[in-house]
Amino acid sequence: MPMLSLIVPCYNEQESLPIFYRETSRIVSGLGCEYEFLFIDDGSRDGTLPLLRRLAQEDRHVTYLSFSRNFGKEAAMYAGFCHARGDYVAVMDADMQDPPALLPRMLEILSQGEYDSVATRRVSRAGEPPVRSWFARLFYRIINRISDAEIVDGARDFRMMKREMVQAIVAMDEYNRFSKGIFGWIGFRTFWLPYENVERVAGQTKWSFWKLFKYAVDGIINFSQAPLSAVFWLGMGMTAVSFLSLVFIVVRRLVFGDPVAGWASTICVIIFIGGMQLFFLGVIGQYIAKTYMETKHRPHFIVAESNAERVERVR
Ligand code: UDP
Ligand code: MG
Repeated sequence: MPMLSLIVPCYNEQESLPIFYRETSRIVSGLGCEYEFLFIDDGSRDGTLPLLRRLAQEDRHVTYLSFSRNFGKEAAMYAGFCHARGDYVAVMDADMQDPPALLPRMLEILSQGEYDSVATRRVSRAGEPPVRSWFARLFYRIINRISDAEIVDGARDFRMMKREMVQAIVAMDEYNRFSKGIFGWIGFRTFWLPYENVERVAGQTKWSFWKLFKYAVDGIINFSQAPLSAVFWLGMGMTAVSFLSLVFIVVRRLVFGDPVAGWASTICVIIFIGGMQLFFLGVIGQYIAKTYMETKHRPHFIVAESNAERVERVR
């Protein structure tokens, strides 16, 4: 009998978790296959961990890993992929924004054998602030133009995949993780399942606008070198233009003489160029910082407590 693993990253989800567990258990127990819940407690500070301990005692399908601190959803998902034992593996949020009702359909599509993964895509962004939607759309336009990983607008992390694909994801052990990019980069045949946006059942979103913005910039830097080349070509262009202007000014001085004027415009140009240089250095710095973090080979996560038979040590 095939086995389905459900990876659920949880960060301060004490309100939503019982609802999630009840609803999802009901659905997966009717699937006619073996299953396991793999809850990853990402350093929650509320009652999430005690709740998971209790669930694990009551239900043999429940395995949990608890991190020593908050490592972020990406690390939690990676820990899930490393520990999942199933032939099919799905990632789900704990807040019911990823409807468990879609699971039977996803499993059916995968078991037919034509696809390696079933991914979900929100067709509406209802209930989201308009500014956030606008920035999200801009992000997808930019990243699809400049990176070779196909990243679908509205794609959620909610997806189910086969063992082979999970193996490929685990093999991508980079420290700076951007799952949407990783899923796109490794390829495989993906079926896209559209659905209407659902708002979380309880609790608060853990993503502020600023956190999302930084996540988007990370996504671009992790999956594209386009900012580096853009900066390179812009720098070249500006050097050429300034050299030509210099020639022009010297010739004009020699031919017409030079009444001292244009101090303000000179200062403007100096500030402009100085600003550009700092910005470009910053872009390069971003890449160097990423390289620095990668070379340290730090663990992606640290497990402080678990009921799993074996706890993987990654790196
Ligand atoms: N999450 C996590 N670590 C974090 C932030 C979030 O494991 O640092 C989990 C969270 O518990 C939830 C999922 O990631 O199960 C998605 O988070 P959230 O619902 O806050 O994000 P949104 O749906 O608003 O994008
Ligand atoms: Mg959510």
